[in-house]
Amino acid sequence: MIKLFDTFTRKKRKFVPIEKGKVRMYCCGLTVYNYAHIGNLRTYIFEDVLRRMFEYNGFQVIHVMNVTDVGHLTSDADTGEDKVEMGAKREGKTAWEIAEFYTKAFLLDMERLNILKPTILCKATDHIKEMIELIKKLEEKGYTYLTDDGLYYDTSKFKEYGKLTGMTFKELNEKLKAGARVEFNPQKRNITDFALWKFSPKDKKRQMEWDSPWGVGFPGWHIECTAMSMKYLGEHFDIHCGGIDHIPIHHTNEIAQAEAATGKKFVNYWLHGAFLVLGPGIKMAKSAGNFITLQTLIDNGYDPLAYRYLCLTAHYRSELKFEFENMKAAMNSLSTLRENVRIMKGNLESKVNKRKIAKYKKEFLNAINDDLNMPLALSILWKVVRSKELNNQEKYELVLDFDRVLGLNLDVEVKVELTEEQKRLIEEREKARKEKDWKTADEIREKLRKQGIILEDTDKGVVWKKIHSSS
Ligand code: AMP
Ligand code: ZN
Repeated sequence: MIKLFDTFTRKKRKFVPIEKGKVRMYCCGLTVYNYAHIGNLRTYIFEDVLRRMFEYNGFQVIHVMNVTDVGHLTSDADTGEDKVEMGAKREGKTAWEIAEFYTKAFLLDMERLNILKPTILCKATDHIKEMIELIKKLEEKGYTYLTDDGLYYDTSKFKEYGKLTGMTFKELNEKLKAGARVEFNPQKRNITDFALWKFSPKDKKRQMEWDSPWGVGFPGWHIECTAMSMKYLGEHFDIHCGGIDHIPIHHTNEIAQAEAATGKKFVNYWLHGAFLVLGPGIKMAKSAGNFITLQTLIDNGYDPLAYRYLCLTAHYRSELKFEFENMKAAMNSLSTLRENVRIMKGNLESKVNKRKIAKYKKEFLNAINDDLNMPLALSILWKVVRSKELNNQEKYELVLDFDRVLGLNLDVEVKVELTEEQKRLIEEREKARKEKDWKTADEIREKLRKQGIILEDTDKGVVWKKIHSSS
């Protein structure tokens, strides 16, 4: 049995698919005006693990992810600049070039993190027609009104508005009013109302704009995801995911649009990942300018999959604090696991006790099926690796099996070369040892340890392995 924590009911619920053997899931994609930061990537890793968990359980997953290449404004109140057009101004490129460049960079990050390619990756700018059609439906049903800057959704007309947050329409409006720091369009009837279609500014030409029954302009961010998810997954589908910041506005508005247009329940399970933070309440965010990219980790000598490992050490619904110390620990754990796999592989036995293997697999399955308890799943992996009751063959089979979900490439041989200087130091240490100059030998060993090279003296001579540098 698979249990998932559903934001809507605020409980773990048994997963029952709409269609037997299939899971239809939609994940809100990146706004492509800059590199993804490792906080964004934490959410995509969580979604990837979710997909892999279903596949491990034998489901066929139809995984749709969008690329937000237009319409995401700097303010949630539908004011401010379009983030992609802002990126174009910043870099002196066209909005189309910016979107293409950062989409490619994002796809590369996903590949480096072993995030499986979505079944369908859809760009908002390729679906303007579908968005206009959906807005027309809402207009016909009386949910919309015009203002000077666009066509808006009247949230007071949708009886259950805000239900994903657990608050009523009135409570949400009051909360937003109390916390309002931005200028709202004074023509908006309710503070929670949002733009379905925004008009291009009268005084300047936008790079991305389209004709519509209401005027030249561009779609609102929320209608994009609703139109694309319904196009590829149907009006009612299994799972919709994103980070927790999407609960009060983006996903709340998506429900209002979809359910008002179709009269049907939109999604069965809403799953949200908690933030990557830099300290208590300090969210990593592009707008805050405090972000770290995957490339930065790579430039600092980390394997991108060590970041994936780090994410797996925390439950997806708990905040994860990013620290380079934790990154180092994750890198060392990953290296140790791979080193163990290499040793197992070199000493495989022919006998396998199927019953024993089944016992560990069941434990692992119970962990991942319990709302993706990945910290527990990792501890089962370590138990297997360190087990005295399992032989190498059994361990190897189990590790490869678990890695289908973990996605850590545990069976890769990471080639690490020593620098010329390190090779020279090892020779010097050998010489010192021969001369029984233990002090020099120890000093060199410590020097190398600080560079992440561990020396071991064996019967066959000195062997070395690489861990992440601790200096
Ligand atoms: P955006 O590009 O802003 O639309 O965000 C892409 C995804 O990253 C969304 O699902 C966000 O909820 C998620 N996200 C943004 N910041 C963080 C963070 N600090 N930690 C985890 N997820 C985040
Ligand atoms: Zn979305």
